[in-house]
Amino acid sequence: MIAEVAIDLGAIVRNAQALARLVAPARLYAVVKADAYGHGLVPVARALAPHAARLCVYALEEAVALRDAGIDAPIHVLGPIPPADLEIAHATDVTITLWDGELYARQVASVARRRRRPFVVQAKIDTGVVRLGISVDAAPALLERFAATPEFELAGAFTHIAAAEELDSTFTLEQLARFGLATRGLGARVERHAAATAAAILWPDARLDAVRCGIGLYGIWPSAEAEALMRERGLVLEPALRWNTRIVALHEIEAGETVGYGRTWRAARRSRIATLPIGYAEGLPRTAGNAAQVLVRGRRAPVIGRVCMDMAFADVTAVDDAAPGDTVTLIGSNGAERLSAEDLAGACGTIGYEIVARLPAHVPRRYDVIGT
Ligand SMILES: *Cc1c(COP(=O)(O)O)cnc(C)c1O
Repeated sequence: MIAEVAIDLGAIVRNAQALARLVAPARLYAVVKADAYGHGLVPVARALAPHAARLCVYALEEAVALRDAGIDAPIHVLGPIPPADLEIAHATDVTITLWDGELYARQVASVARRRRRPFVVQAKIDTGVVRLGISVDAAPALLERFAATPEFELAGAFTHIAAAEELDSTFTLEQLARFGLATRGLGARVERHAAATAAAILWPDARLDAVRCGIGLYGIWPSAEAEALMRERGLVLEPALRWNTRIVALHEIEAGETVGYGRTWRAARRSRIATLPIGYAEGLPRTAGNAAQVLVRGRRAPVIGRVCMDMAFADVTAVDDAAPGDTVTLIGSNGAERLSAEDLAGACGTIGYEIVARLPAHVPRRYDVIGT
């Protein structure tokens, strides 16, 4: 084993239950895009399906992979589906997202007609992210048209919040007001949803009929602010992912010697340098070099020099008993110390989301047996 990612599916289920309790009576949608945020699409979706009203993916290919794995839970594809793939989408029995009332809507309707069954659709409304969505002005008329189109079963309307992590911003309330305006004519059977994890936990007004949680399911907080506030209120989210590698070589170097490409780290004293067999191709950001820490024998060791494609270095001078073969923890606990995805992300100038979403599929995942 060069490196291993271990996933605690029980923690993911408990996080889903905690979030579902928090937002009830709003329903919980489980977002499993990006290979379930690096945790592994199929095992995570299988564990979450009984605890979520539906699964949300980004691409149709992810929905097909779930169906091929025998998962028959409702699936909502959040992202674009090329017109050429609409037949497959219909056959896969997924809910698709509409944000265009013209050509694309006609193509969707024509596939439904040909296949003699309505397409289940949700309309996306742009209230301020300026990414995907029908404008607030156009929404009432277009939603009415979608609802009246026999080839569509309009199951929901949703929007996405731009700055839900910021508690002092009133923009979230502004977006919710715009969403209310855009969807004012919809019947009660059409679900309305707006919140991802941050809005779901921080903005009760954003919970509406359902929330779409991703990052919180994995025990990663959308922001430090959200974590501080929700810990105070007793919401516990358990990190579900541990990431370990091993020391493959140890070098004693003299003061003044340099390590790695570009010679960006120079020993200030006699030092012991551990070679780690993972690099940016294994998911350790290049920005971790001279910035992040790892755990060895329950102690912290700095990542030094430049992270290579498949290798990196840690200064283990302070871990005097470190030896080749020792476990090196990038995320998770090691002895009494613990590093979170957020810790690694902070050191690398990014967010926890990016660290886990970019863990490559070729790094083996190991799944713990689900407890209770
Ligand atoms: C990714 C995504 C979510 C989940 O966001 P988290 O912050 O991970 O909870 C929800 N809705 C949409 C549209 C998304 O793209």
